[in-house]
Amino acid sequence: MAATYDYDLFVIGAGSGGVRASRVAAAHGARVAVAEEHRIGGTCVIRGCVPKKLLVYGSHFAEELHDAAHYGWSVEGMRFDWPVLRDTVLRDVDRINVAYTQTLESHGVERFLERAVVTGAHGIRLASGREISAKYILIAVGAWPVMPDFPGNDLCITSNEVFHLPKFPSRVVIQGAGYIAMEFAGIFNALGAHVTVVSRSETILRSYEQALRDRLLQITMARGIDYRFHCPIQQVERQPDGMLCVTTEGRDSLTADVVLIATGRRAKTDGLGLDSAGIALGPNGAVPVGDHGVTSCPGIYAVGDVTDRVQLTPVAIREGQAFADGVFGGKPVTLSYDCIPSAVFSQPPLAAVGLTEGQAREKFGAIKVFSSDFRPMKNVFAGRAERGLYKLVVDAASDRVVGVHMIGPEAPEILQAVAIAVKAGLTKADFEATVALHPSMAEELVLMR
Ligand code: NDP
Repeated sequence: MAATYDYDLFVIGAGSGGVRASRVAAAHGARVAVAEEHRIGGTCVIRGCVPKKLLVYGSHFAEELHDAAHYGWSVEGMRFDWPVLRDTVLRDVDRINVAYTQTLESHGVERFLERAVVTGAHGIRLASGREISAKYILIAVGAWPVMPDFPGNDLCITSNEVFHLPKFPSRVVIQGAGYIAMEFAGIFNALGAHVTVVSRSETILRSYEQALRDRLLQITMARGIDYRFHCPIQQVERQPDGMLCVTTEGRDSLTADVVLIATGRRAKTDGLGLDSAGIALGPNGAVPVGDHGVTSCPGIYAVGDVTDRVQLTPVAIREGQAFADGVFGGKPVTLSYDCIPSAVFSQPPLAAVGLTEGQAREKFGAIKVFSSDFRPMKNVFAGRAERGLYKLVVDAASDRVVGVHMIGPEAPEILQAVAIAVKAGLTKADFEATVALHPSMAEELVLMR
């Protein structure tokens, strides 16, 4: 007799990947439940991409208001009120949390707002003690910020807490020089705080094209952000005046009212019980998966950041969709991890798709590189010296554009569109055959010779 289970699918983690998988599986007719120990929506919606982007928008007004004067506008009594921005952003987070919850509800997905752990190939235990069985289990618990071990790290915050600051800081120290560090350095700097980025190496945004990283460094330094390279934090202490004293390796100490640690994220698998199903964790606590997200235990799958492949929301969503369509919809899909566009919402932002110059040279040998180093019209008018930089990397043999790298205003918006051309395998000749849209920044993409 076939085994009977409480559910066809039990999803642990209601973030981007888990919610998509839950509702698609339910739409295919599966009996689905999901457990979430924090809030429905996960990192992206609750404490990541969405509130971060709103803070980026909010902080951009500093530049827009400055530029406004050049267009004849005068704004009297301009001032910034952090609690207003913070609370408006958090209200929007609440709105999306409700929308996600309603999506699950309308698809008949049962929700357990508590922690769940795996007890075997088909077993789950809720924090309340309830034991549940499911034919399939999907691990979609995401990742969590890593806090390096140093005295006083309990006085520091991570990207989890940064959206809730009671008071806008005057001086911020940020440890790390990756996505989160560079995005929050831009936000705090634009909103008027003094920012120091301290990094263990000399590299910012390691995976991006060198020329773009150099440009971002140059512009952000001119905007007043200080950098200390090869200079990890050794200790943080609270001073009698309430400020934090940050001791870094080999340099004088820094004073800050907020110390933000942004040193990567680790799969949130500690204590999740995956060993009970014979699943051995990989580096960084990740759940190793094969095709379609299956783990070494045939009934257990994993999607999103917990697999530590590509820690990006749209990738988690695609993986969740592919899992549900494959397992419950009879439509197995093999995802392509090629040409995934990405962006850093620094100020200015940068964005890229495909191979860097170095990667392309290694893969194809002969390549051609085209670049456009230009001063965007709006910067010229506003008297800002900042220049944009676009690069196209082309495989010399096939003429295919295999990488596009951009830094400048609206780079992520432009990049998303050009990523279609790169994914479709279009050639440099196709780019050149496209008439420029003038005047725009994006026209540089078809004008490079
Ligand atoms: P990143 O991996 O981007 O950067 C980590 C930074 O911390 C690097 O500068 C790294 O230095 C440094 N670092 C790592 N370990 C230590 C340590 N033990 N001590 C001191 N420094 C250390 O991580 P983030 O935390 O910024 O972001 C996490 C992930 O979230 C990203 O990888 C990305 O996938 C995702 N994300 C995506 C965003 C987007 O798409 N716009 C926005 C925000 C996050 P080094 O390089 O020298 O090793």
